[in-house]
Amino acid sequence: MNVHLKQAAAMILPDLKDKVALITGAGSGIGRAAAMMLAKQGMKVCLVDLKDERREQTKEEIVAAGGQSITVDVDISDPARVAQAFEETAKTWGRLDVVFANAGINGVLSPIEDMEPKDWERTLNVNLKGTFLSVKYAIPHMKERGGSIIITSSINGSRAFAGFGMAAYSTSKAGQVAFMKMAALELARYNIRVNAICPGAIDTNIGENTKSTPELEKVIIPVKYPKGNQPLEHAAGQPEQVADLVAFLASTASSHITGTETYIDGAESLL
Ligand code: NAD
Repeated sequence: MNVHLKQAAAMILPDLKDKVALITGAGSGIGRAAAMMLAKQGMKVCLVDLKDERREQTKEEIVAAGGQSITVDVDISDPARVAQAFEETAKTWGRLDVVFANAGINGVLSPIEDMEPKDWERTLNVNLKGTFLSVKYAIPHMKERGGSIIITSSINGSRAFAGFGMAAYSTSKAGQVAFMKMAALELARYNIRVNAICPGAIDTNIGENTKSTPELEKVIIPVKYPKGNQPLEHAAGQPEQVADLVAFLASTASSHITGTETYIDGAESLL
């Protein structure tokens, strides 16, 4: 374990203890690491993901470590299922304090000319509509007590545009930042903070939902990076490093921060 991960494992934010979080995409990668981190802080965590054994494994690990967790099988682009996940969380624990709207896909990567409208729709439905639904259906459960909503965007769509074939993905990620700012203003009256995190390359399973088409070759512009494209650590980030940022934004340690995107990329997107 590197020095950073040892420090992360030691971080405790006492104000999160006994509070309740709902995390989407909690079965893998960034969502899973955030669920483990928030559970370590003493939070009760609702794990939302597609029907997937990794979601159940995450729950088992949390429970084995003495935490409290439920799982709900949800496609976040389905309004009825998203609403139900919030209902189940509120029914189980009687409150909701933190939402991590994180589930997302890279989807099909292709030139715009060759992009199938159904592939565009799928990426926008999961990443952008899914974020809208994860905020919309949280509000009735958070408006009395306030809380924190964190949205996983990306460096793509705001600082980085060389992800050829990712027009749909980058558009969805840019849309999430604009939506986050609208929501931060609108929900401030309820003391609900809304922020976005913008990771660079993080070592997760996102490749599993990425499909490059052969036509991509036509539009790729070779981009020459210096050796190692993350200046700080010369490697992709770890999900646990992103989870630290999520815990900070979830806690009152960030009580005056809302409507803000935070980059977590080891300066990758500045190249
Ligand atoms: P991942 O594939 O490891 O995890 C994503 C999880 O989301 C999976 O468990 C998957 O089953 C779930 N998911 C996908 N579609 C869903 C749907 N329709 N409904 C419910 N759950 C769904 O990937 P990750 O890298 O941890 O991705 C998490 C977020 O981070 C995404 O929004 C992604 O765009 C963003 N992101 C990732 C990187 C990276 O390099 N990994 C960089 C920037 C942003």
